[in-house]
Amino acid sequence: MSKQIVAIDGPAGSGKSSVSKQLAREFDFGYLDTGAAYRALAWLVLQGLDMSELESGDFEASFDYEISTNPDDFWVKVGSHDVTEAIRMAEVSEAVSAVAQVPAVRSFMKRKTHELADRCAKAGIVIEGRDITTVVYPEAQSRILLTASEEVRLARRSKELTEVENIHAQVTKRDASDSKVVNFTEAAPGVTLVDSSDLDFAQTVAVMADQVKTDLK
Ligand code: C5P
Repeated sequence: MSKQIVAIDGPAGSGKSSVSKQLAREFDFGYLDTGAAYRALAWLVLQGLDMSELESGDFEASFDYEISTNPDDFWVKVGSHDVTEAIRMAEVSEAVSAVAQVPAVRSFMKRKTHELADRCAKAGIVIEGRDITTVVYPEAQSRILLTASEEVRLARRSKELTEVENIHAQVTKRDASDSKVVNFTEAAPGVTLVDSSDLDFAQTVAVMADQVKTDLK
C-alpha cells in the first residue's frame, strides 16, 4: 500500500506545527515540517551563501539537509551542524521569506519533500507547510487548511517567541510576503478549512483527527 499523506497548510501562528505533531503521534505516522528546510537555507544565507546560488539552483549540490520525521525526537541538520534551534532565531525568520520566493528553491523543496516522505518508514506522514495541499501534494488523501484570526495567531506566537515587541511586525510582514508566492489564506477545491480561532489545542486536534479519519477511510 502506498503511503498515506496528510497535508496541512496554514499561516504563522495557526498552530499547525504542534497540531501536526500531535496528529502524527495519534495515527502513528511520521511528521514533516517543510518550513524547516526553508529556514535552514535562510540560515545558510546568513552564514554567507550567496543569493545568486539560490537563483541559479547551484546550492542543491552543497545543501546537505537532513530532518527527523519523528514527532518525539525532532532535529534538523545542515552537514555536521545541528541547526534545530538556530533556525528559529529572529534573524532567520526575517530572512526566510526572501529565500522562499526564489523559484529554483521552491522546485527543489517540492522534490526534497517527496524524497523525505518516501524515506519515512511509517505507513503515513503528516506534512505541514504553506503549499503542501496545493503544490507539493495536491493528490494527498487528506488536505486541510488550518487558520485562525490574526488576533489569535499573534497571541499564540507571542507565547512562543522571546522578542515580544517585534512579533506583530514580524508575523504580519512574513505572512504578507509569503502570500505573494503561495495562497494559504483560502482553501483550494477539495481542501477542508478548519478555523481554530475559538478552539483550544485539544479541540483543534480532535476536529482535525476526525477529518483525517474521514479522509483516510
Ligand atoms: O512554517 P514556518 O513558519 O517555519 O516556515 C518558515 C517559512 O518558510 C515561511 O514563512 C515561508 O516563507 C516558507 N515556507 C514556504 N512553503 C512551505 C513552508 C514554509 O514557503 N511549504
